[in-house]
Amino acid sequence: NRRIVLAERPQGLPDDNTLRLEQTDIPTAGAGEMLLRTVYLSLDPYMRGRMSDAKSYAEPVKLGEVMTGQVVAQVVTSDVKGFAEGDYVLSGSGWQDYAVSNGDQVLNLGADPANPSWALGIMGMPGYTAYAGLLKIGEPKAGETVVVAAASGPVGATVGQIAKLKGCRVVGIAGGAEKCAHVVDNLGFDACIDHKADDFAAQLKDACPDGIDVYFENVGGKVLYGVLPLLNPFARMPVCGMVAWYNLPGLPDGPDMGPVIMGTILRMKVKVQGFIIFDSFGPETYKEFAAEMTGWLADGKVKYKEQVVDGLENAPAALNDLLEGRSFGKMVVKV
Ligand code: NDP
Repeated sequence: NRRIVLAERPQGLPDDNTLRLEQTDIPTAGAGEMLLRTVYLSLDPYMRGRMSDAKSYAEPVKLGEVMTGQVVAQVVTSDVKGFAEGDYVLSGSGWQDYAVSNGDQVLNLGADPANPSWALGIMGMPGYTAYAGLLKIGEPKAGETVVVAAASGPVGATVGQIAKLKGCRVVGIAGGAEKCAHVVDNLGFDACIDHKADDFAAQLKDACPDGIDVYFENVGGKVLYGVLPLLNPFARMPVCGMVAWYNLPGLPDGPDMGPVIMGTILRMKVKVQGFIIFDSFGPETYKEFAAEMTGWLADGKVKYKEQVVDGLENAPAALNDLLEGRSFGKMVVKV
């Protein structure tokens, strides 16, 4: 049994000393427990936050503890009612081959789900984040302009496609020509701007001739500063993440942008609301999401791109790829 533990809290981007691969015996499941074998491990930007002991909405991973993460696993042996050998489950087992569970917080996906890994992406946490954040906080209306960055990733790609279904003009932001082409050609956004371009702000302005009504905030940094002057009165800004800043050891260099940010919110009467997907919306919203997304996927109205990395041992490097924009689509590790 291999497991990857947090060895050291990183300063900046995680490095070779941050995580450690360990070998242990396969754990044994006792009475009322089941043994799970990980099939897919999800990699997500929030994992960088769990490595740090800075104040957050969740407890940090302790040093020496298995890195936290959602997995799709298969039941090896079970003494838990409702779970049979061979069933696929969604579980918070973390970065390891095997885990023992009593079934608490574990979702049974059935013996033969069509796309088991999708429970980590479009049909799971990132898909739900996009759906609830956009529709319940962003409240897009037909004809409005919606902007979202990390537009080829699982959250951004889903936000943009749902906004298109609601009749909006949708402008994505992504890193590089290949991702931008995918966002427009395959996902159907109206435009996509490369945030690495020198004239990024000017290009964004050209792509939003009627200003911006909903900015779904995934990244912060230069993208946020490009968006601020384009916000329309009564714009909405669901604050979902700020991945551009996750690896900063302290505050960014440069001028204090506080007055520009707060001044824009005030003058433009922008509604800014942060959310954490686990506790910001009720069970009704989740049910709506599951039903609507199932339909959209079946009808081909929402498309989903995954990047599968092979081998648990490659997860640490893959997480850095994700944080630095070298992933393309929802990143999962085939364990
Ligand atoms: P992605 O798979 O899209 O990965 C993050 C992407 O961010 C990278 O691929 C990269 O794409 C982009 N990025 C990285 N650095 C920068 C930068 N400096 N400027 C602009 N873009 C950058 O991630 P997810 O779809 O899983 O998550 C998107 C956001 O949603 C994250 O901020 C995440 O933390 C947040 N989130 C929040 C949740 C909540 O409950 N609030 C729940 C789930 C996710 P590119 O190459 O295109 O720049």
